Amino acid sequence: MTYNKKSIEDINPQGKRVLVRCDFNVPQDENGNITSEKRIVASLPTIKYLLSKGARVILCSHLGRPKGEINPKYSLKPVAECLSKHLGIGVKMAEDVIGSSAKAIAGSLKDGEAMLLENVRFHKEEEKNDPEFARELASLAELYVNDAFGAAHRAHASTAGVAAYLPAVCGYLIQKEISIMGEALNNPKRPFVAILGGAKVSDKLGVINNLLEKVDALIIGGGMAYTFVKAQGGKIGNSLCEEDKLDYARDMIKKAADKGVKLLISSDAVVADKFSADAEKKVTDVGEIPDGWMGLDIGPETVSTFTEAVRGAGTVVWNGPMGVFEFERFAEGTKAIAAAIAESDAISIIGGGDSASAVKKLGFEGRITHISTGGGASLEFLEGLELPGIACLEDK
Ligand code: AMP
Repeated sequence: MTYNKKSIEDINPQGKRVLVRCDFNVPQDENGNITSEKRIVASLPTIKYLLSKGARVILCSHLGRPKGEINPKYSLKPVAECLSKHLGIGVKMAEDVIGSSAKAIAGSLKDGEAMLLENVRFHKEEEKNDPEFARELASLAELYVNDAFGAAHRAHASTAGVAAYLPAVCGYLIQKEISIMGEALNNPKRPFVAILGGAKVSDKLGVINNLLEKVDALIIGGGMAYTFVKAQGGKIGNSLCEEDKLDYARDMIKKAADKGVKLLISSDAVVADKFSADAEKKVTDVGEIPDGWMGLDIGPETVSTFTEAVRGAGTVVWNGPMGVFEFERFAEGTKAIAAAIAESDAISIIGGGDSASAVKKLGFEGRITHISTGGGASLEFLEGLELPGIACLEDK
């Protein structure tokens, strides 16, 4: 998918009411305190730019899963306080989304002022992308900016529906995601190496299929590798396996060969006698895992093959851990891949989720070209699917 969308720099927001969809879905403790401000901080460049241009900024987001009902537990009030602190201006908090409070505050905003609407998911119409709800939401503003990449794969009212009623452009976060990931997929610096891991083949069917059209080498590690090993006749003991995906794995192995894509599947494994942090462990050939044992990490030979491939890459895309990295003793493989990517000169892109946390936890964040802000959205992007929250924006 190639996107060439207008951004906030292509519009004149001076004096205009601008509805900005952000991803303020922040983690909170049991008292409602925000435990990581990362998503709020990430949204600041777009908000500050709009304020500096004299826009009247109307922010909106979802938070958690209130299932279409008003629930104070999922109120965005703490986010408004956090935003006020970072922006140095009072961000006015509405008591509703499209009700009298939202309308009154939106109507009284002055140039360079900002407000935050309540959680859009307090309305069940949000996730249904109800056109009437989208129209009401849009009626608060004169322009729409989407900057919530993490929600861009969802066709909801605030992420896509409103674009039918307002001129719609992207903010800096979405602009960065689509330019870096779009360039990697469509015009990569070669060799282009993709690394996939994690538990399930079935989550990544489309991704594997699409990446085989694009990459020079595809690396498969983590739990999903065992389905590929078994598909080739290996003995995988009690390791994860999706029996109904064995044919698919064989098809992908054939596709890689037909396309001349180098397919690297783990060759050895760190196996455990139970699924536990303190399990007995040993290293075996990946196709000779004894019954009663399961592969929970890639072995040393695999680490060396995979890191070698990363070292020679021009572009690396990584999604999914190489093992059960939550258990310290089975985290070596994931750490080694993270380190190899951080040390390489390649353009490096990490999908959201577990691989992103691993990279951050190890302190490699600053040495990665791009860590996507959306797990699900980045996977769908790599799959070549159209993201409704981006497709709805105006083309340049
Ligand atoms: P995913 O959400 O598909 O990216 O999978 C992430 C999860 O896969 C993590 O929680 C890992 O613990 C798990 N995982 C990775 N490798 C293995 C493995 N060999 N066996 C079981 N689970 C694994």
